[in-house]
Amino acid sequence: MTSNQNVPTVKLLIDGKFVESATTEWTEVINPATQEVLAKVPATTPEEMEAAVSAAKKAFKTWRKTPIGARARIFLKYQQLIRENMSELAAILTAEQGKTIPDAEGDVFRGLEVVEHAAAIGNLQLGEMANNVASGVDTYTLQQPLGVCAGITPFNFPAMIPLWMFPMAIATGNTFVLKPSEQDPMVTMRLVELAVEAGIPAGVLNVVHGGKDVVNAICDHQDIRAVSFVGSTPVGTHVYNRASQAGKRAQCMMGAKNHAVVMPDANREQTLNAIAGSAFGAAGQRCMALSVVVLVGESAEWIPDIVKRAKTLKVNAGHEKGTDVGPLISRTALNRVNTFVEKGATEGAKLELDGRGPKVPSYEKGNFIGPTVFSGVTPEMSIYREEIFGPVLCILTADSMDEAIELVNANPHGNGTAVFTRSGAAARHFQEEIDVGQVGVNVPIPVPVPLFSFTGSRGSKLGDLGPYGKQVIQFYTQTKTVTSRWFDEDDVGTLNTTISLK
Ligand code: NAD
Repeated sequence: MTSNQNVPTVKLLIDGKFVESATTEWTEVINPATQEVLAKVPATTPEEMEAAVSAAKKAFKTWRKTPIGARARIFLKYQQLIRENMSELAAILTAEQGKTIPDAEGDVFRGLEVVEHAAAIGNLQLGEMANNVASGVDTYTLQQPLGVCAGITPFNFPAMIPLWMFPMAIATGNTFVLKPSEQDPMVTMRLVELAVEAGIPAGVLNVVHGGKDVVNAICDHQDIRAVSFVGSTPVGTHVYNRASQAGKRAQCMMGAKNHAVVMPDANREQTLNAIAGSAFGAAGQRCMALSVVVLVGESAEWIPDIVKRAKTLKVNAGHEKGTDVGPLISRTALNRVNTFVEKGATEGAKLELDGRGPKVPSYEKGNFIGPTVFSGVTPEMSIYREEIFGPVLCILTADSMDEAIELVNANPHGNGTAVFTRSGAAARHFQEEIDVGQVGVNVPIPVPVPLFSFTGSRGSKLGDLGPYGKQVIQFYTQTKTVTSRWFDEDDVGTLNTTISLK
């Protein structure tokens, strides 16, 4: 697409200035409920990319030595600004992404919690010290920032995930280049404006836009020390390999196929609500959505109740009151999900509820699909193997909890899971044996608060350390050990040719 004069443009942030890109390549940000073009996003040119990294490199020289209290106070101010602008942020997010207003507020709020955590950096970025490791000798560690770090974010949480990244990277003394999703960068940019207003100095935070080429340029750039990525498994694997080969630290949080394991003793009403809310909320476009249910033993009889609950959900534009399921992000995403539903039926699963082509008055052009439920799903089917990323629930059955655990552990993804039971012993067994990053016990979407770090197993995560929480301090810092001895004026010492300290 070439530049259209009447549509607002999304700006770059380079060295403290919001600037128009000189590119000739633009893509559109489209309201998924109405198809209205909201803005156009540039594909950052190589020169602009270079300017962003070089501004970050220059700013690092002073930012790395900025007192920890001064860094923390910026994030105290920032969390206040986000709170004050919550309604505006949620409205922008809903218009470009499609999720409901309460869900958009939740998206901003979960990011805000990380900003609050960044404000506590004084208690987090602490070294260790051992006194008298040898006679008159002490050893201590420094957690020093790395330099220029970069973040690449997905479309589904355009507020929360950028906030997983740049606040912690900057609070630890690094400078940052952010590449938001080109599908919905507007709320991210509003959050970036508020970060600048909160006092983040010029060059400390920079923003570039675009797709594959810009991501590859980030992975390859020799002045970028660490890359944090959140998105699909194929792209994340590519980013991890490419950034690692270029000598960078990389953490990639990726795709999912999250299973709910339902035991026959589970609290029926609570479990049915939890399944419907987490499978179909945000139109199934959450990396922690429960997209598979494994009904164990007699709970197989619950299928009609799951379908009944799914039918109660209201499909409509995200800004309309009472909406449960908004539109998918794009036409391409809708076509992809519709194709999966067709495939599921062809592969022999039973289509219990078909949400394709719902009537949504006033939003006939929206990318809608209502809650869709398959039973009789088997592990070979593509609807089970692949991440659909829409409001499509696959139901399987198992004879025992161990059979269910085996199924979950054999899935290529290991992002989230939840067990529903009244038995503490069964829940503990599940927690011990399951190989998945986030585990819920009667909690459908167990995203950890920022006192902990987000994690993942198998195809859901590459890299040792997760975003936010304590692990991210390690990710964004280099540990330096210092071993020191101080002599008294009259201490002449002895000549020592061994390596031991005495
Ligand atoms: P995506 O992988 O398509 O895009 C993510 C980022 O990569 C975007 O910024 C995009 O511009 C860039 N990109 C896209 N294609 C690329 C390519 N070929 N080469 C290089 N860069 C490329 O993901 P998405 O559709 O925006 O987001 C949804 C995915 O993210 C789902 O798979 C979801 O499970 C996952 N996700 C995971 C987590 C987690 O914490 N594990 C959280 C949120 C979303």
